[in-house]
Amino acid sequence: MKSVQFQYFPKNKKISADLNKVVDVFVGKYNLICSPENELDSNAVLNIVSADLSKLGFTIEKSKKKEDKIQVPVLFGKNGMMENATKTTQRNYLKVGSYTPATDNTEAVIDREFYGQGYIFKDEEAYATSLDQVCYIPELSDTTYTHQNFLDLMDGQEELARDLFNRVDWQHPESLFEDDYVNGEYDNCSVCGRLFACYEKSACPHCAPSASALFSRAFASSRYRFARHWDMGFWG
Ligand SMILES: [Zn+2]
Repeated sequence: MKSVQFQYFPKNKKISADLNKVVDVFVGKYNLICSPENELDSNAVLNIVSADLSKLGFTIEKSKKKEDKIQVPVLFGKNGMMENATKTTQRNYLKVGSYTPATDNTEAVIDREFYGQGYIFKDEEAYATSLDQVCYIPELSDTTYTHQNFLDLMDGQEELARDLFNRVDWQHPESLFEDDYVNGEYDNCSVCGRLFACYEKSACPHCAPSASALFSRAFASSRYRFARHWDMGFWG
């Protein structure tokens, strides 16, 4: 007798009980959906199994209409490239205020909103998708900052630039960086000269990516969190 064929991966693991229940749904409806006895497209098959899948807690897509589609996060496709599962999928980027660049006829328009500690413009999508779009304007000057400006400030290192961008909430990025540097949160490696964040690595990760650096990381980061916590309590 024919029956549902399935293969679970990785092959050295037994299929989980949850997934077995899913297989059982298809086994139970086998006579209605098997081919070539039946000639159903995937939506017709889904219709037949949807009630049983719902009972297992699955949400079933009702139709291909936009409002019925299930929103799925970004997926990683071939060669690790990002692909959107549906066209309606969008990341929720942080956006504070707005910025309209100058044109030949009009001046730039800055519309600040309150965020963190002051009135600023901050646009995470501009940071994430472009190097030269304005993504941040501090409270006390109209100096505009792009992703590239953050990179230039942080030794060209994306991880550090992103962290600084995430944290600015009223001040000039240079000021926040300088304060952090003075407080010992960043240092320049005495060997290669490159900038690194001390609270994550006790040794420069550029010329000493060693096991000991990894080992100290967990300890150093918990100490950093403690220090920040204490600072906040201290300064109110
Ligand atoms: Zn180094």
